[in-house]
Amino acid sequence: MLDDSAAIGAEMKCPTCNARQVWSPECRRCKSDLRLLRGFAGLAQRLRKAALLDLHAGRIQDAQNSAEAWHRVDRSPAAARLVAVCHLLTGDAAPALAVAANQAAADD
Ligand SMILES: [Zn+2]
Repeated sequence: MLDDSAAIGAEMKCPTCNARQVWSPECRRCKSDLRLLRGFAGLAQRLRKAALLDLHAGRIQDAQNSAEAWHRVDRSPAAARLVAVCHLLTGDAAPALAVAANQAAADD
């Protein structure tokens, strides 16, 4: 799951050896290259922020587009919830229920 972990000073977990550390270009323990992962996490963070800003400004369709883009790169429950909220705000309950059902199945 990707979250705000791309933020400067935030902790992350190396996908190779599970070492916890602050973001850096390589893992302190196994020396894996983490630059691509950080870029990916940063993209997810930017898409999440764009969706929230659009939502706050009342641009629901733009928020939905950003939320869906975020969910494509981050399959987290938070991303799924934001997609569902956007669907509900556009009056489209069926996709919102589908997102919730998929998330519930993933949680099992
Ligand atoms: Zn590592």
